[in-house]
Amino acid sequence: MLIVISGPSGVGKGTVCAKVSQASGIRIAVSATSREQRKGEVEGRDYYYINEEEFRLRIERGDFLEYAVVYGNYYGTLKSEIKDDENVILEIDTQGAMKVLKAMPEALSIFLLPPSMEELRKRIETRGREPAEVIEARLKAAEAEIDTGKRRYKFVVTNDDVNRAAKEITNIIKNATAN
Ligand code: 5GP
Repeated sequence: MLIVISGPSGVGKGTVCAKVSQASGIRIAVSATSREQRKGEVEGRDYYYINEEEFRLRIERGDFLEYAVVYGNYYGTLKSEIKDDENVILEIDTQGAMKVLKAMPEALSIFLLPPSMEELRKRIETRGREPAEVIEARLKAAEAEIDTGKRRYKFVVTNDDVNRAAKEITNIIKNATAN
């Protein structure tokens, strides 16, 4: 089964997904991206870093299950990351998720919500990675994503506490994979 997990920038998806993966033993697919590798990130663990030209080439070749342009960079799930007989978590944005859910309506979709917009702003600001105008753009994008999340995902989980949210998602996955 494919498990799609999305949420706005700064909601804490990465941390929650890592905990869910650890608790459930389900692998998180490694995406390809054309964005720069950040400090502390590892090739093949966090992402496969490829340039824009190669990304487009691989789109042409049909290597991607889905891809999207997020904040000006390409991100995509490689078909080679997915095996028929294995559960896998896709930590992807809402555009990519909509493509996956259209092709595979049986996929499990979970959207991670911030406790409030004020809290989301605080989290993005304290992360201290982006300039002010980028923060505003991300907050605006977050509102649209949250709207999509509430309407189109099977489950909506609030990340009020990382451990609690991870436990809730792990239970959702357990119940869904048991049937
Ligand atoms: P970041 O650059 O902060 O690691 O990720 C930015 C956004 O890209 C996040 O919302 C993340 O979920 C999304 N993203 C990461 N990998 C993929 C992918 O393979 N496909 C799509 N559609 N979005 C992705």
